[in-house]
Amino acid sequence: MGVDKISGETRNITAKISAHYVDNARELPWRIMPHQSADGILPDPYYVWLSEVMLQQTTVAAVVAYFVKFIRHWPTIADLAAADEADVLAAWAGLGYYARARNLHKCARYIVSELDGAFPATEADLLKLPGVGAYTAAAIAAIAFGARAIVVDANIERLVARLFAIDTPLPGGKKDIRIAMDALTPDAEGKANKVGDFAQACMDIGAGICTAKSPKCSLCPVQIHCVAHARGNPELHPVKPPKKAKPIRKGRFFWIEQDGKLLLVTRPPTGMLGSMRALPDDDWAAGKDGHGQPPLTGGWQLRENLVQHSFTHFSLEVDVAVYHSDKNINKTWDNHGAGLGSRKPIWWPIDTIEDAGLPTLYLKAVNRILGQGKRKD
Ligand code: SF4
Repeated sequence: MGVDKISGETRNITAKISAHYVDNARELPWRIMPHQSADGILPDPYYVWLSEVMLQQTTVAAVVAYFVKFIRHWPTIADLAAADEADVLAAWAGLGYYARARNLHKCARYIVSELDGAFPATEADLLKLPGVGAYTAAAIAAIAFGARAIVVDANIERLVARLFAIDTPLPGGKKDIRIAMDALTPDAEGKANKVGDFAQACMDIGAGICTAKSPKCSLCPVQIHCVAHARGNPELHPVKPPKKAKPIRKGRFFWIEQDGKLLLVTRPPTGMLGSMRALPDDDWAAGKDGHGQPPLTGGWQLRENLVQHSFTHFSLEVDVAVYHSDKNINKTWDNHGAGLGSRKPIWWPIDTIEDAGLPTLYLKAVNRILGQGKRKD
């Protein structure tokens, strides 16, 4: 159905979703619970911003431990701004989409240096922050400041698309979903944060009840209003465009080991996994295979197709070439490093490699090599 059919029912739906939240809100470390909201308490914008950036493309279950770790290391935005980027990236390792971590750090520095450490309270001003897009600006404005903003994340998109059986395939259907969410969103009035609580109520229902597969419609507070449920086919919504096949790229990582240490480099600051520590590689990229050439001459042992990793727009198959040396590699590396930019060697003890903050892709390769028991110790 089209959004033109959305009727006066929206007020009922909003009331039922809001009432359900009072007793069923998930306790999350960045969240103000409904009874606190009723007393006019708002969450710390730093917590809301940090959690929302972490939650982009990532589940709540994966984010909680990272959020707690970040808050323990950097309790305030000033602490985060003062941190070294390398430490922030290392703490982020495993969460993926590393540009988020670099933007997070940049944004913290901007807020501290340009805004005296205070988050702006309006969607328009939040949008000016580095790395803050339309969704994040709306979520922070609504949840941290109680402003009326239309919040549509993937969970809300699914819930709303089903409630009104919006048939237009994504991404075109996003416009109708947004109009419907606008019709559902309450006004910002009274002491409690009605707008922020409503957005979070919808997120919770989307995450726990109106799930992508096998939605638990019998537990849903708005089942009686749901057009997709009445049609008997909620999983058809939101209607997705046909999937494109992902290209497969080939890459090669180089395992260079000496005296129980592994040679790592820092990736270039721009591009995929920028500024992260990683194994040297053959410059694979989203748009091309790597060149396959090792950075040093020597007796390399090749482990083919050791790791497969899926990125949003392509898949990567990785060979790992292994080289154990008992001579001083630093000199050789200096002579051969030209093709590797200014990637200074970082010799990291293999025993503590888990602490190096390697992106998941590289950590998978390391674990595969260590797990193979083929090291010459
Ligand atoms: Fe989702 Fe089912 Fe509720 Fe409809 S009734 S909103 S499909 S959980």
